[in-house]
Amino acid sequence: MYRLYQKTVEEALLHLNTDKDGLSNAEVEKRREEYGYNELTEAEKKSTLMVFLEQFKDFLVIILIFAAVISAFLGKFESSAVIVVVITINAILGTVQHVKAEESLKSLKALSSPTAKVLRQGKKIEIPSREVMVGDILFLDAGDYVSADGRVIETYSLQINESSLTGESESIDKVIEAIEGENIALGDRKNMVFSGSFVTYGRGVIAVTSIGMETEIGKIANLLESTQEKKTPLQENLDNFGKKLAIAILAICAVIFALNIFRGGSIIDSFMFAVALAVAAIPEALSSIVTIVLAIGTQKMAKENAIIRKLHAVESLGSISVICSDKTGTLTQNKMTVQKLFVDGKVIEDKSAETCKELDKKLVLMSVLCNDAVTAFDKEIGDPTEIALVNLAEKYDFDEIKTRDEYPRLGEVPFDSGRKLMSTVHCIGGKTLLVTKGAVDVLAKRLVSIERCSGISGITDKDIQEIEDANRSFSENGLRVLAFAYKEIGDNVEIGVDDENGMTFLGLISMMDPPREESASAVAACVSAGIKPVMITGDHKITASAIAKQIGILKHESEAMEGQMLDDMTDEELREKVENISVYARVSPEHKIRIVRAWQKKGNIVAMTGDGVNDAPALKQSDIGVAMGITGTEVAKDASSMVLTDDNFSTIVKAISNGRSIYENIKNSIRFLLSGNTAGIISVLYASFMALPVPFAAVHLLFINLLTDSLPAIAIGMEPYKKNIMNDKPRDISAPLLSKQFSLEILYEGILIAIATMTAFHIGLSSGGHIVASTMAFATLCLSRLLHGFNCRARESIFTVGAFTNPYVWYAAIIGLVLLMSVLEIKPLMGVFEVAPLTGNQLAAIFGLSAMPLVLIQLSKLAFVKSNK
Ligand code: ADP
Ligand code: MG
Repeated sequence: MYRLYQKTVEEALLHLNTDKDGLSNAEVEKRREEYGYNELTEAEKKSTLMVFLEQFKDFLVIILIFAAVISAFLGKFESSAVIVVVITINAILGTVQHVKAEESLKSLKALSSPTAKVLRQGKKIEIPSREVMVGDILFLDAGDYVSADGRVIETYSLQINESSLTGESESIDKVIEAIEGENIALGDRKNMVFSGSFVTYGRGVIAVTSIGMETEIGKIANLLESTQEKKTPLQENLDNFGKKLAIAILAICAVIFALNIFRGGSIIDSFMFAVALAVAAIPEALSSIVTIVLAIGTQKMAKENAIIRKLHAVESLGSISVICSDKTGTLTQNKMTVQKLFVDGKVIEDKSAETCKELDKKLVLMSVLCNDAVTAFDKEIGDPTEIALVNLAEKYDFDEIKTRDEYPRLGEVPFDSGRKLMSTVHCIGGKTLLVTKGAVDVLAKRLVSIERCSGISGITDKDIQEIEDANRSFSENGLRVLAFAYKEIGDNVEIGVDDENGMTFLGLISMMDPPREESASAVAACVSAGIKPVMITGDHKITASAIAKQIGILKHESEAMEGQMLDDMTDEELREKVENISVYARVSPEHKIRIVRAWQKKGNIVAMTGDGVNDAPALKQSDIGVAMGITGTEVAKDASSMVLTDDNFSTIVKAISNGRSIYENIKNSIRFLLSGNTAGIISVLYASFMALPVPFAAVHLLFINLLTDSLPAIAIGMEPYKKNIMNDKPRDISAPLLSKQFSLEILYEGILIAIATMTAFHIGLSSGGHIVASTMAFATLCLSRLLHGFNCRARESIFTVGAFTNPYVWYAAIIGLVLLMSVLEIKPLMGVFEVAPLTGNQLAAIFGLSAMPLVLIQLSKLAFVKSNK
């Protein structure tokens, strides 16, 4: 067997029939026929037919089928037909809802599918991971998931976490040399990388050796678990509640069944009635309503740049009380432009300034060399901090590509946000130099000398003071400052973090990253919504505070703290202080997790943003991890429950507002379902205990169930989101949806509808007899429930929210009304649905009584609900 890890890089490339320029598009197409796509086969998804058939597994449906069969045996074909129609329509509705929700979740997933950076036709491009091909040259940076198996052909401190394959949590240092031996374990094939692992440090280039099911993980995984979304906590609660409620209702139905027989009803009729009552009263739609409203909501959120990766996050969004946000790129624009330089003790405003030109030229040269950004071909690729430096270099007539060709990079230690430094090695003026750039306070500790126009001299306290003063005055204006230093090294260009000391100071470069325009208003919105915004940044404390002040996060200097101080504090001390700190500066990703924990211990629900691979633990620890879509790494996205496609802080605030509204809409739908069902049960109980005739025929209840359970409930869930939702405080996450208050309101509304229904029943009994009475009760219950839909749209009255702002409720009500009138007026249907012809007065009574709950509830909303606009 040909083992690539035993071969040299050249042999491996030859074997893969590729080279360091990558594949051509034509070659990729050709290989596609042989290798297919880079994806793991998923277990077969449920077909639509299966979903449809599964609708019949429900306990109630089985009872209904049973009832239909009995009816048919007794020759009551009409009611059998009604039952069959009801079951079928219900199943169709259920299937459509299920499939739609699945589709929308799938499209949501597709929005956050992984990508890979490869070389095609000699150009570096980004493609969806599934298009990666054997022989592709793949670039790996810290935070990337490795999307295929490959042979390492270049490494710069490349470290990879392979725990998903080997269980080993320690990162592996990768090498390019061939490895000898026959049966080397996966974890020891250090010149190979494997799909499913991720880069924890450094960067590297690999040649893809296998893709899809041929990769090591593909061989283990065999079949990927089909990605079934777990139920959210709310759905689980509702399912539990629904089960308990169902048992209670079945008990009631059993009592009613017994009462009816006792009063001389036939067993069959009594049974049919009890079954219909159970069907009408058990709110089987609860959890599917949640799914639908969530699906609609997440689609809307995606359009507003927030992609939900974990559905349960939508529910917690409304409870967020703290947002810990990165500064750079999230609160600011991440468009850096160099403002001023500092060399030889002087601030340089622009390049025409009178200084000893050589020195600032040298500074700018080093800033393009110790730099990975490219702005060629009108595209800016790379870290904005470094792009700013490349743009500066252009003003000094350096072309970054030519310059880097002239002084090739011989070695490097990549930037990492914990160390806050980056170093590269170049041969400049016949000397091998280590060039380092990074945070001033970090680099200042590594200096031994300073270069001035007059030459190099040992560094004094005064020099340091001068550098620090310059740094402070830049920072106070909200500028980010980078320090540059260098030193001569020997022939060994294999450098590491230990080499970044004993350096010669060259100069400072300061750059501006203005706050986003929306940031200030988003911060203000947070505050009025009872949410505390907290800024977290690797930048200098003074820079961070200046920006935080501009956007309103920080009121007083004492609210800012440095990562260093965090290190000196115990978790308890941090917890004591945490509520008074709005800005954390010079933090490392490891600090973030402590900040999250401290807030959580104080009983808060915390959102935390992140982009780097080291942010993953904090993102997971937070209640809602928010990853950056543009600058974020795959690992960060994977660890988070929400991804911002525009990296913008204000998008988080919008998402919270949407999350609150979605929850509110779900709650309103549930209010509608439960209060209507309550009304039905109360009416039947009332009639039974008052020894009145049975108020509804079984078909009535089935009709009402079909008509009022689905459409109006969904329509209520589609209520447009209200702006004033951000004037409320965050929702207590532990408070149950069905709080005492909420349940009482549902009961109250149910009683009102029941009163209307029973009044209609009494009028019917006295003016026409049993059939007329049950027709009137049926029509009133049906109509008043439809109208009740308008009550459930919002806490406020219709006059506040606007009668026509949710057209869906109108559509649902009108469709319902048309169907109801057809049943009441069209001869053949009247027979099937066991309704009697009604007089004009009786119809008027039905309409009047049905409007009563609407009018009463609207009036009480007007009187008691304060609108917090
Ligand atoms: P932030 O949290 O604001 O994104 P970073 O962790 O990116 O901060 O940066 C922290 C500090 O590291 C910056 O203040 C800067 O001094 C330094 N720094 C940032 N980017 C680079 C880079 N590409 N190379 C060297 N130093 C950098
Ligand atoms: Mg950064």
